[in-house]
Amino acid sequence: MSIQFKTIKDLLTMLKNKDISNKELVKDTYSLIKSNVHLNAFVTLNEEMSLKKAEELDKNKSSGNLAGIPIAQKDLFCTKDLRTTCGSKMLSNFIPPYSATVIENLENAGCISIGKTNMDEFAMGSSNETSFYGNVANPWGSNLVPGGSSGGSAAAVAAGIVSAATGTDTGGSIRQPASLCGITGLKPTYGRISRWGMIAFASSLDQAGPMARTAEDCAIMLNEMCSHDLRDTTSLDEEIPDFTSDLSTSIKGLKIGIVKEFDLSMLDNSVAQVFEESKKHYESLGAEFVEISLPNISLSVPTYYVVAPAECSSNLSRFDGVKFGKRCENPQNLEDLYIRTRSEGFGDEVKRRILIGSYVLSAGFYDAYYKKAQQVRRLIKNDFDNAFKKVDTIMTPTTRGAAFSSGSKGDDPIQMYLEDLFTIPANLAGLPALSIPNGMVDGKPIGLQLIGNFLQESKLLQIAHNFQISSDWHLKTPSGDIN
Ligand code: GLN
Repeated sequence: MSIQFKTIKDLLTMLKNKDISNKELVKDTYSLIKSNVHLNAFVTLNEEMSLKKAEELDKNKSSGNLAGIPIAQKDLFCTKDLRTTCGSKMLSNFIPPYSATVIENLENAGCISIGKTNMDEFAMGSSNETSFYGNVANPWGSNLVPGGSSGGSAAAVAAGIVSAATGTDTGGSIRQPASLCGITGLKPTYGRISRWGMIAFASSLDQAGPMARTAEDCAIMLNEMCSHDLRDTTSLDEEIPDFTSDLSTSIKGLKIGIVKEFDLSMLDNSVAQVFEESKKHYESLGAEFVEISLPNISLSVPTYYVVAPAECSSNLSRFDGVKFGKRCENPQNLEDLYIRTRSEGFGDEVKRRILIGSYVLSAGFYDAYYKKAQQVRRLIKNDFDNAFKKVDTIMTPTTRGAAFSSGSKGDDPIQMYLEDLFTIPANLAGLPALSIPNGMVDGKPIGLQLIGNFLQESKLLQIAHNFQISSDWHLKTPSGDIN
């Protein structure tokens, strides 16, 4: 029985019924990885260890809720004894001595970390074209980008290689590639999942989350990914519910907010049409639509592009040729060591962010840029607080359009930054948000975004699951020949 395009739930049933052994499942997964090498979705494979773990599971009675499930891990999570590059030349030789909490949690649940997925360098990008390890192709068309920065994870799930993958989302990096590849992806509330062992990009925005074919699988993954972690001071000490328990509860009477300030004319035509159809679909499920106002929302992208580079310039200062990763050859003195290590180790987009970040944090400009951006961030958060007095969730398109051609936005960083127009606000406010496939445009999938109030992941997953049990957009599989 083929394992391609199976969900976690399917695979757990197959393993339980002994339709497949753990070892066969792992072997079949590597066969799929190999027949899809053109996607360049993986940077490092973990074949030997994975087979060993599967054999052990076959011998001993398997334990853990996800025992034997192969998971593709974004190459931003530290994995003990397994190379972790973060898509950068700087970390091309970095073998972490420990695993991130998320990895530990998933492995404790029995998951098999099958390999590390390609990504934009240090998670900076929206198209997976900034990785030192090459571009990732979208399974729907080899000339299309998969989105970024979790593009390798999204491509691996969309191609049906794995049922689920981990991603991280600082300004949209789970939801935007989920939309462009036709899968489901959730960015939880800031602090829901520990950031310990995640290579930091912008610490006040970064959040890990699940990427899978269905909302139900995202809930199953989330159950294992969350924990209160004393090693991360921003990790929330909140009750962790069973995220699967309310999935099928009806959403009749639920209030969905539509943002007045998002003008649908800024979307590609057919995206607006698909969005309207999804509204009708939710109406047929008994939901009510309410117009809400987020007056400062148009300031989200500029605010993000001050805050994120500022934090990145500080976080990435540790990559200096002394503490981690690569060091330049034959440094003449300490300054030469720093300059050449960083010049050689980082790509253009990372350097651009470090320069912007250092500038907005510098003594003369801090008040004008960084402090101002933090003030605007608070206003955006207040806007959401007000909106959630009236509605249960806020619905927007995830992206302005479907997957674009590789190279088509490369020359203009601003165009690329606008890819995250709809996703960035949730990161600035720390709110949970997810993307589900809700239609096709020119044969390519697009996504619908649902933003929830603080800690309301269960409700978001319920709203998404209700959509998926009454539609089939999430079941579409790529033919690979679209341009
Ligand atoms: N595309 C955005 C950026 O380049 C968001 C990336 C992310 O969420 N990691 O910063």
